[in-house]
Amino acid sequence: MSPTPEIVFAGTNGGSLTEIGDYEAVGGFLALAKARAMTPDDVIDELNASNLRGRGGAFFPTGRKWSFVPKPDKIDKPHYLVINADESEPGTFKDREIMLRVPFRFLEGSLIAAHAIESKHIFIYIRGEYEAEFEVLVAALEQMRERNLLGDVTIVVHRGAGAYICGEETALLESLEGRRGQPRTKPPFPAIAGLYASPTAVNNVESITSATTVMEIGGAEYAKLGVENSTGTRVFSLSGNVVSGGNYELPHGYPLRDLIDKQGGGIADGRALKAVIPGGSSTVILTADEANEVTLDFDSLVGAGTAIGSAAVIALDDRCCMVQLAVRVSQFYEHESCGKCTPCRVGTKWLTNILQKIEDGRGTQADMDLLVSVAERINGKCLCPLGDSDAIAVMSYFDKFRDEFQAHIDEGGCPFHGESTLDHLLAPVATHVHNEAVAHA
Ligand code: SF4
Repeated sequence: MSPTPEIVFAGTNGGSLTEIGDYEAVGGFLALAKARAMTPDDVIDELNASNLRGRGGAFFPTGRKWSFVPKPDKIDKPHYLVINADESEPGTFKDREIMLRVPFRFLEGSLIAAHAIESKHIFIYIRGEYEAEFEVLVAALEQMRERNLLGDVTIVVHRGAGAYICGEETALLESLEGRRGQPRTKPPFPAIAGLYASPTAVNNVESITSATTVMEIGGAEYAKLGVENSTGTRVFSLSGNVVSGGNYELPHGYPLRDLIDKQGGGIADGRALKAVIPGGSSTVILTADEANEVTLDFDSLVGAGTAIGSAAVIALDDRCCMVQLAVRVSQFYEHESCGKCTPCRVGTKWLTNILQKIEDGRGTQADMDLLVSVAERINGKCLCPLGDSDAIAVMSYFDKFRDEFQAHIDEGGCPFHGESTLDHLLAPVATHVHNEAVAHA
């Protein structure tokens, strides 16, 4: 399959479109004009025809999400559009590049979405560490205000304070309201009682940006891109032991192995592929054999027992210690647990401690059983997906690479003897990307 021409990054020629005149020269804001000439329901119909699904991880159909927001005549409260730009899943760094390179395409999509749900108030909740992205957005907004493109819509860019849990939509809303970022119990769902207990649509940056394309080319045309159930393109963040990590916009259905080998230049240092995390740290790992068989779309990855998640593909070579990987991933979730529910607050710490014990060579056979037992007491018993993510990810490493865990027990230490290539992985990612703006971020 050959890559589809870029549509999220359309018109950039590998660079950035941060001057409004340059964006208009490649057809910028025509989609917004088209949407505003349509009724909100017709815009939602167009999105439904495209079968665009959320790019944040849940893959929920965007048009349906917008249709859940009650009409203003049904509920006498303000309507809000909240955009989740709090990208924090380890391995995921696509939204930052979208905001840096095509801020107007993203903001245009925001106004299209606001029109669809009949909202006059947009909040963009951006990850606090994304300073350059924040500045690019604010500068872009200023240019749009000067052209009076916002109309009667207000857009607030709100900076987060560095909590992964604020990527969970209800924790994000809590944070936006000035409280500690902890998930709410659902129902009610945000569409009915979201921000300030009012009807709210919460969408991811890439979803919103893709909505611009849907309006540009029409839902039916958009639906022809990609594969059934996974239409359109996706910006895949490729990282790990690859020659050229970075963001690659490709159609859904693209072979996973081609992303690594053809786009990413293959595994670095001539090593062999050992495993792939296909959709961010919360997804089930694939062995190299499994990775050879799948394509990058919802159905193929679910069929392989994992998920497309945030489309962050982390390739691991044959020197990667799976126990060390488990420790690092579990440490992340333990650190980011908001503490609201016990299975996650206590369980993630237990998982980390047991895994560290095994990695250090202090583990016993009983710890192998204890690990499984603790994971079972987390999974499915948490208020939000964070606790489950730790248990599911770690147990996938354990189930598929059990021999490696056993070797740590039998040998009284890590069989890689300090040679594991993991150390630079899963750290905050600033890998090679193919544009200057990100390189300078
Ligand atoms: Fe908080 Fe973890 Fe419970 Fe989610 S699962 S609500 S992050 S304690």
